[in-house]
Amino acid sequence: MTDRPEVNPSIMEIAAYVPGKSKAAPGIEPIKLSANESPLGASPKAEEAYRYHAHNLAIYPDGSAMELRTAIGEVYGLDPNRIGVGSGSDELLHLIAQLYIEAGDEAVMSQYGFLVYPIVTRGAGGTPVFASETDLKTDVDAMLAAVSEKTKVVYLANPNNPTGSYLTADELDRLHAGLPKNVLLVIDAAYAEYVDAADYKLGIDLVNNNENVVMTRTFSKIGLANLRVGWLYGPAHFMDVFHRLRGPFNVNGAALAAAQAAVRDVEFTAKLKTHNKRLRDYLVSELQSNWYRTRPSQGNFVLTEFSEEEGRTAKDAFETLLGEGLVVREMASYGLPHALRISIGHEKDMKKLVQILQSMN
Ligand SMILES: *Cc1c(COP(=O)(O)O)cnc(C)c1O
Repeated sequence: MTDRPEVNPSIMEIAAYVPGKSKAAPGIEPIKLSANESPLGASPKAEEAYRYHAHNLAIYPDGSAMELRTAIGEVYGLDPNRIGVGSGSDELLHLIAQLYIEAGDEAVMSQYGFLVYPIVTRGAGGTPVFASETDLKTDVDAMLAAVSEKTKVVYLANPNNPTGSYLTADELDRLHAGLPKNVLLVIDAAYAEYVDAADYKLGIDLVNNNENVVMTRTFSKIGLANLRVGWLYGPAHFMDVFHRLRGPFNVNGAALAAAQAAVRDVEFTAKLKTHNKRLRDYLVSELQSNWYRTRPSQGNFVLTEFSEEEGRTAKDAFETLLGEGLVVREMASYGLPHALRISIGHEKDMKKLVQILQSMN
């Protein structure tokens, strides 16, 4: 017997999260470009719904999230019975792992994929298996080669954070076609609202035509990060087990109301997308030089890679930007110490950022 409670050993395999910096030099108001939040805030309709909810704090929320699921169903043309909601897609990813992964199981994910996948896998007692990427893009063959008899779940962020790259519709089909039927493919489309590539697809058809595909989404990147609302779309057998495990009131009423207003405010979402695309294009075209280069992106951020040369490293660029109040995301915890991830912000801040990096030399 030990003299204190012993933690589930796989939890100790989780690397403690290192948050990005959020402070600038003393006296400078920081501009946060490190968390892929909406630069235009939330939909005004969502804010109004949230405020209205201040009168309802004493009552439990609708545990079935009926109105939000109906709204999502209407806007995206999906069956509300196959939509589930959670406290951010983080919660959904944890629930999915708990549903399918046991001690000794494996989950496959891409080398530079989203950092939450290994956490939820370990949290369920499983082991993450990383598939190497080619040129900072998910490699379908490597993902399939990483699948073994122990694999229960394959996680794919499409588009991916932090690289901004994506699998085309054909590549996604090929990934799914290569998986055994007992392996669940989780398509995390957190940046769906920002994609404009013509050869991209969400994978709704894959969910509809198969028993082993679930798509997850979030409201965090379209202005509601603070409220923690995510949703998923899955096959009927999945929805059954999902509802058994989830907390009966897992999303609070103010968040449900605001999310419902946000999903119906398609004009606001379109405005965000247009703003994002214009400045994303601007960054990708301006942030190129002989010592840094910026990758194309389908998200609301770009990844810029820097030189190893002294004075021209990602760390140097990070510190220089920080000194001017611009807080971007360092990428060492993602295994990309030579890169910075820059969230798309206001136009004036993007211009300032470009000007700072271009004058660094
Ligand atoms: C931001 C992000 C999410 C969203 O997480 P929430 O818990 O909904 O805020 C999910 N997946 C990826 C890849 C992300 O970048």
